[in-house]
Amino acid sequence: MNTLLIQRLIPKMPLRYIIRSASTDADVPNFDMENPFEKEKPQCILCKHKIVVDYKNIRLLSQFQSSYTGQIYGRHITGLCKKQQELLETEIKKAQNSGMMGFYTKEPIFLQDPELYDVERPIRPHRF
Ligand SMILES: [Zn+2]
Repeated sequence: MNTLLIQRLIPKMPLRYIIRSASTDADVPNFDMENPFEKEKPQCILCKHKIVVDYKNIRLLSQFQSSYTGQIYGRHITGLCKKQQELLETEIKKAQNSGMMGFYTKEPIFLQDPELYDVERPIRPHRF
C-alpha cells in the first residue's frame, strides 16, 4: 500500500512506524501479531462461571458466610467484584429474612462443602 495513502488515513502516526509495518522485508519483525504477554482479564468467580446469585440457592450463599459468626465475608476475602458482592449481600439478607438461612450460624449440612477461597489468606489487604 502507498505510504502517503496510509499516512493520510492515519495522520497522527509517525511515518517511521508506517514504513516499518508496510515493509515486506523478511528481516523486519511482524508488529501486527497479538501481544503474547497480555494477561487474562481478572474476573471474580461468579462472573467467570456466569453464576446468577439467587436467594433460593442456600448452598452457594452459605459459602460466603462465616461458620463461626454467620457474618458475610467481605470483598477482600471473597474476591468478588463490587456488583456481585452487593447482589450476594442482598440475596443473603433476603434468604435470612425468609427463614432459609441463619443469621448467626451456618447450616451444619454445608460445613463440609469445599471452600471457594481461603479465609485465612485474604486476596486483598484490609484495614482490619
Ligand atoms: Zn464479577
